Amino acid sequence: MLRIYNSLTRQKEEFRPIEPGKVRMYVCGMTVYDYCHVGHARAMVVFDVVVRWLRAKGYDVTYVRNITDIDDKIIRRAQENGEDFQALTARFIAAMHEDLAALGILPPTREPRATEAMAEMLTMIQTLLDKSFAYIGTNGDVYYDVSRFDRYGRLANKRLEDLRAGSRVEIEDAKDDPLDFVLWKSAKPGEPSWPSPWGAGRPGWHIECSAMSTHCLGAHFDIHGGGMDLKFPHHENEIAQSEAASGHRYVNLWMHYGFVQVDDEKMSKSLGNFFTVRDVLRRYQPEVVRLFILSSHYRGPLNYSDENLEHAKASLTRLYTALRGLPRAEAPVAEEWRTRFARAMDDDFNTPEALAVLFDLAREINRLRTEDEASAARLSITLRHLGEVVGLLQNNPEGFFQGVLIDVPSAVISVTAPAPEITIALSKERIEALIAERTAARKAKNWAEADRIRVLLQEAGIVLEDTPKGTLWRRE
Ligand code: ZN
Repeated sequence: MLRIYNSLTRQKEEFRPIEPGKVRMYVCGMTVYDYCHVGHARAMVVFDVVVRWLRAKGYDVTYVRNITDIDDKIIRRAQENGEDFQALTARFIAAMHEDLAALGILPPTREPRATEAMAEMLTMIQTLLDKSFAYIGTNGDVYYDVSRFDRYGRLANKRLEDLRAGSRVEIEDAKDDPLDFVLWKSAKPGEPSWPSPWGAGRPGWHIECSAMSTHCLGAHFDIHGGGMDLKFPHHENEIAQSEAASGHRYVNLWMHYGFVQVDDEKMSKSLGNFFTVRDVLRRYQPEVVRLFILSSHYRGPLNYSDENLEHAKASLTRLYTALRGLPRAEAPVAEEWRTRFARAMDDDFNTPEALAVLFDLAREINRLRTEDEASAARLSITLRHLGEVVGLLQNNPEGFFQGVLIDVPSAVISVTAPAPEITIALSKERIEALIAERTAARKAKNWAEADRIRVLLQEAGIVLEDTPKGTLWRRE
């Protein structure tokens, strides 16, 4: 039985999907005006593991993660650069996809973009106006009227007066209440804009997620996720918009992950203690970063430090050491280990506990290896299988020990480097070893592994051609 902590009820609840066997889930994605930092990496890895575990449990998961490709920060950055905002967002969307691929994040089922969902947003704003949940302010912007929605503050667990007292004093007096928030913003001269019944302008941030989630998943779905800092006001506002528009419940279960901290301070740009995924991937293998993120429970803080990353590296080395040099074997997943692992994951995705099961398993394989190598090899199948559920241990152990940094798609390493691009080419020996691994995987009908190797080579600019006489390769 899977139990998940619901931020709305502030307790762990047994997970029961709306439609048996299916899970519909929405996660607030990135605002694309800069590179992903470690906080984003945490978000992506956490929900990647949530999706992997739900799928491992047999659910058919529809995972939607949006891209915010229009907002004030994007407009400002594009103006500073003297470029079109779409050129800016296209570049950072491509960079984000590279970072996520490097980290082994499975792509979402759908990845809607705000600029492609204008019609849905306009429809929802019009509905809110028709139902008197919204009004046009004295400056022409459209606002949501918080006082009309009696459940406002339920997610934040605060009364309206307390929220008002905590909200920043607004200089503008275009709206009736400081808590009211903008649904449609009139464009200033020179800003990108879209036509609407209320004049040319652009959507507020909150309406974007309500409209896109409803469009992709329906007006009532299972899980909505995001960072703790999105709980209020972003998610509170999403609930207010969506439930007012539909007249019924929006989301059953809200999941929020904790901050990334550096020396006990929140990692943020303004504090200058800020690391991009690229910075980190130049120093650590992607799998080390993933293990580091999963070694803290998602709801707690994650402490970023060299010491913790080194610790993750040592832990991953232990796991790969257990897999190293064992003969190929076939065996079912060992039930007692699977049960222990499942118990941890079913307890609100307790990944530190699940990793502890993997370390115990590695220790057991090492113990067995000296007396009974065949049993050790059979048990290693379980370690690989459980590792896959959290996105770990899918590389060849030799590749790991040779420094899989080389196996990161060359583009990931080169994008931030000054021109001309630095590309790390794979050696002929390495390419042939990978092709041999792929051939073995194909013989064993392990299509996922064969595909993984093909994509990895493709990303390094190596094109494969399968012929009756074997696999030929060439550099692109
Ligand atoms: Zn959102």
